[in-house]
Amino acid sequence: MDLRNRKNEFAPRPDLKIWLDGELVPAGEAKISVFDHGLLYGDGVFEGIRSYNGKIFRCEQHVRRLYDSARAIRLVIPMTPDEITKAMYDTLAGNGLAGKDAYIRLVVTRGVGTLGLSILKTACPSVFVIADQIELYPPALYETGMAVITVPTMRSHPAALSPRIKSLNYLNNILAKIEGQDANAPEAIMLNHLGFVAECTGDNIFVIRDGKLQTPPTSAGILEGVTRDAVIELARKRGMTVEEKDLVRHDLYVVQECFLTGTAAEVIAVTSIDGRPIGDGKPGPITKQLMSDFHALIRAE
Ligand code: PMP
Repeated sequence: MDLRNRKNEFAPRPDLKIWLDGELVPAGEAKISVFDHGLLYGDGVFEGIRSYNGKIFRCEQHVRRLYDSARAIRLVIPMTPDEITKAMYDTLAGNGLAGKDAYIRLVVTRGVGTLGLSILKTACPSVFVIADQIELYPPALYETGMAVITVPTMRSHPAALSPRIKSLNYLNNILAKIEGQDANAPEAIMLNHLGFVAECTGDNIFVIRDGKLQTPPTSAGILEGVTRDAVIELARKRGMTVEEKDLVRHDLYVVQECFLTGTAAEVIAVTSIDGRPIGDGKPGPITKQLMSDFHALIRAE
């Protein structure tokens, strides 16, 4: 088989321009070495970010989380936060996305090194930015809500690899995603090592119980989502009580409403969990209110 010339329907558009270590290059030329520890070991950090009308949503929070993730894995980002921000705006402009809605992937890899694990034998972290369109879930799911399941793969133990680090090693999430997909679930809920609900493979989870908004605390082993933060703010603005609280599967089954939050997903209702309908099996009123508040927020900020 001619491995190098296979047709790949998922390959990036060739006209896409990638910001790679200081310059915008065509997608086909945006290459990282096979010796980069980001590839060899998943050693690196990243952010998934959105721009709305050309403005990067909660840019400072994403950049801050990137630097926090990098600090946690002893990776020194070879740019300042302002330079990173400019690189993202340059990438949007270079792809005709200024003033538009787009999805941005910001990545910092450990860089080229020897074949060992040692970070001391790597010298130059690479930074790249991809800006493109994204559609995570089919639009119809935002109307109907989605059926999700809890999966056997547990979220990584915070003392092994903290979910607070948004690292390039996403295999824990991918294994859970596979289990979800095998059951036709577009997203999967992961529990932590104690059996408490943690988060989904790429989204945080919220429930509404007796009018209160509840979501697992950071200590449950979650990524502290930027969208999660925004939704907590919006709910408090509406005068709702928000509790960060450990939840078990049973708690999920008996709530009135449930929804997920994430940069790519935004806010999406969950209408069934492990085959149990949530509420009356339709997106609930509080979920719909917060979805609409979130849509207003992303256009207003
Ligand atoms: N949890 C995980 C594991 C994620 O990958 C994401 C998406 N980045 C989230 C939660 C949601 O975080 P955010 O709202 O910052 O996108």
